[in-house]
Amino acid sequence: MCGIIGILGTEFVSSELYTGLFAIQHRGQNGAGMYIAGDGSPKLKKDKGLVGDIFAKDDLEELKGDKGLGHVRYPTIGSDVERDAQPFKIEDPIEMGMAHNGNIVNYQELVEMYDLSLESTCDLELILHIFAEELKKEENIDEEALFSAVERIMENLNGSYSVVTLIPDIGLFAFRDPRGIRPFIFGKKVTLDGTSFALASENTVLDILGYKVLRDVMPGEGILIKEDNKSYLSRQIKNIMPKHCMFEWVYFARTDSTIERINVYEARFRLGRELAKEWKKNEHDLDVVIPVPDTARTHALALAEELDIPYREGLIRNRYIGRTFVMPDQASRETAVKTKLNPIIEEVKGKKVGLVDDSIVRGTTSKKLVNLMKNCAAEEVHFLVGCPPIISPCYYGIDIPTEKELKASTNSIEEIRKDIDADSLTYLTIDGLVNGLGKDRDELCLACLDENYPTQVREDIRDYFQEMRERSREKMKEN
Ligand code: SF4
Repeated sequence: MCGIIGILGTEFVSSELYTGLFAIQHRGQNGAGMYIAGDGSPKLKKDKGLVGDIFAKDDLEELKGDKGLGHVRYPTIGSDVERDAQPFKIEDPIEMGMAHNGNIVNYQELVEMYDLSLESTCDLELILHIFAEELKKEENIDEEALFSAVERIMENLNGSYSVVTLIPDIGLFAFRDPRGIRPFIFGKKVTLDGTSFALASENTVLDILGYKVLRDVMPGEGILIKEDNKSYLSRQIKNIMPKHCMFEWVYFARTDSTIERINVYEARFRLGRELAKEWKKNEHDLDVVIPVPDTARTHALALAEELDIPYREGLIRNRYIGRTFVMPDQASRETAVKTKLNPIIEEVKGKKVGLVDDSIVRGTTSKKLVNLMKNCAAEEVHFLVGCPPIISPCYYGIDIPTEKELKASTNSIEEIRKDIDADSLTYLTIDGLVNGLGKDRDELCLACLDENYPTQVREDIRDYFQEMRERSREKMKEN
């Protein structure tokens, strides 16, 4: 999972990208980059780390131009932090930079098909090179050539990809995989200085930068925002049933984002109501509903409202600890959960607590949270989950562990309940999820819940992903 931005038509492009990347930093904290054009030769700066650590004031002054790309990176399997940071650029057959969000399932097959020798393990480098190879087959590199080349690469690419390309002489060219697995939206700003366009993973970027949302980039669509007259051309390249990732609404996207015209906060609220319907099927009572911050707050609020039970913030997150926080020794690892989340004893002591989380992956954190509540003398701890059991890995850009590590892949709900020490365990059902999201089930990717992958994922590719994920875990342990 990553975040992308493309902007064309403003002299403040580097500061707009910088501000925009902060707005989608939640989509990736391992690396960030910008590719800027329009003032001399195009410039590229990227590195590992957070946006605020990579770009200093001097960098933004040096990155001059009127069009550019920005990217925040989330690590995918087996990838190298420095080499894989985006955007990537190429000069043959034309100078261009590219960034994307997604994951290519048939990466190895395409590397061999196009006989490529790549410098990184980043699948965006693959997309950029095969796009360049297809452009080389065109007589002239013009607007028509871009659409023809992307039509051919869409025939071969298997996976999720929301791609933004900056070709300084032609404009900003965006395309999205035919199933529209990852979000992608675009907007326009008209000021006294002129018109500018922006494309981004989430509309919050556009809102913050003052762009009016035009619409989502459609699954299978190509959009060219032209360099010369600042208008845009669009073409539906492939037209098949979309499969939007349900996890964007459940967990990944910002609560204030709107994806495929469905607001994330509203969706999470409805999921909380659906979870309350499941809860009502059991015999237990609750005195208080407590969310595991931050994502589950909305689910918990709706659940409490629906059950008419007090909602309390009984767990407080240390907001200064990011994903990159490394525990220095074994003793501190033991207190890892408490370092991130500390309970308010007064809200827990002597109460039947309904603890609400957005999902259970390995179950280790869930168990620690239940015990944290019990150590505060909770009378009972009932665990409620705003996502159905996750039973299978994701091949489209979300780092869900291997089947072996996924708690619900090999355990029944009762076994998980016992394992996490909860007095009861209530999951949202797949029907409840679909109802809550308010989308047609056929238009959703639910593959990590039901194993119906929207594209072909061969057995050897599954084995490859599993091996790479295991290797990544080993490497993380060593570090
Ligand atoms: S497998 Fe799960 S996480 Fe991956 S795209 Fe599909 S719904 Fe999203």
